[in-house]
Amino acid sequence: MLPFDFHSPVEPLDFPLFKEKGITVHMKRDDRIHPFISGNKWRKLKYVLQTAYDQGKKHLVTFGGPWSNHLLAAACAGAKFGFKTTAFVRGEPVSNPNLSLCNIFGMELQFVTRAAYKDKHELFRQYYGQDDQAYFIDEGGYSLEGAQGCAEILDGLSQTYDHIFCACGTGTTLAGLSMAKTLHGSHTQLHGVPVLAGGTFIKEAVAKLYNAQQANAIILHTAYHFGGYAKTTPVLNTFIKMFARQTGILIEPVYTGKLCYAVFDLAACNYFQPGQSILLIHTGGLTGILGMHEQFDTPET
Ligand SMILES: *Cc1c(COP(=O)(O)O)cnc(C)c1O
Repeated sequence: MLPFDFHSPVEPLDFPLFKEKGITVHMKRDDRIHPFISGNKWRKLKYVLQTAYDQGKKHLVTFGGPWSNHLLAAACAGAKFGFKTTAFVRGEPVSNPNLSLCNIFGMELQFVTRAAYKDKHELFRQYYGQDDQAYFIDEGGYSLEGAQGCAEILDGLSQTYDHIFCACGTGTTLAGLSMAKTLHGSHTQLHGVPVLAGGTFIKEAVAKLYNAQQANAIILHTAYHFGGYAKTTPVLNTFIKMFARQTGILIEPVYTGKLCYAVFDLAACNYFQPGQSILLIHTGGLTGILGMHEQFDTPET
C-alpha cells in the first residue's frame, strides 16, 4: 500500500438549535486529512493510485475545471507518491490560486475548449494513447475504486448514527457510504445534499457505481443548491460565517456550506426525531474558498 498516515476525528457540533430539538450532531473531519490532498479527494484517489502503481504507471492524467479540488489533490498526491501529473483543464487559459498550487506541485496544465473537454476518453487517446506509462483518472475521481475508498470514511467510528449526510457532486462519495452501510449491515439512513441544480441524477450515479436498490434507499435533499454549482447567496455566506465563528471549523460555499445549511434547516423544520444522532461528513476542499473570497470581503452591515 502507498504509505499515508492521516487523522480524521469525529467532533460534536454543539448548537442551541440541536439541543432544543433533542438531537446530537457530529462532524467527521475529513478536511483534516491533508491541506491539499483533502477530504473525499484522498479517499477517491487512494485505490486509483494504488492500481496505477500496481500496473507500473508513472503518469497520472486527469481532468477538471480551473477550481477543481480534485486537480489539486491529484497534483499533490502525484508529487508525494512519485507520479508525473497532467491535467486537462476545461475552458480558456486562466490563472488562479488553485492552478498555481497545482503548478507548484509539478502538474502540467493543458487548457482545452469546453467542446473538446466533453469527450475525456478521446482526449486521453489523442494525447496519451501511445504512452503506456499514462493512467486515465476521470474528473473528480469518479470511479468504482473512488467509491471503495470513500467507503472507508465510516471505518472505525465509535458509535452508529441514525442519519449520515454528505455533499454530492458526482455521487462517488455517497456511493462509497452506501457500500459501507451494506458492509456494516447498519440501519443508518443515508442522505445526500446535491450542490448542483437538478441533483436527482445523483441516485443514478450511485446506482451505476454500486447498486440500484441501495441507491433507492438514499434520501436526496435537492433544494439546497443555492442557484447551482459554485453559486452562493448572502444567506449562505452569512450562515457560513456564523458556523465558522461558533465552531472554529471552516466550511465553504461550494460543498460543505450547503451540506451544513441543509442539516440546520431540516433540524429547524423538525425533520429529525428527538433523541436521534446525525453525522455530517466534512469532505474538505477548503482551498475552494480562495476563489470566492470577495463574497466574504464586505464589511458587516
Ligand atoms: C469533490 C467534492 C465533493 C463531491 O464529492 P462527490 O464524490 O463527487 O459527490 C464534496 N465535497 C467536497 C469538499 C469536494 O471537494
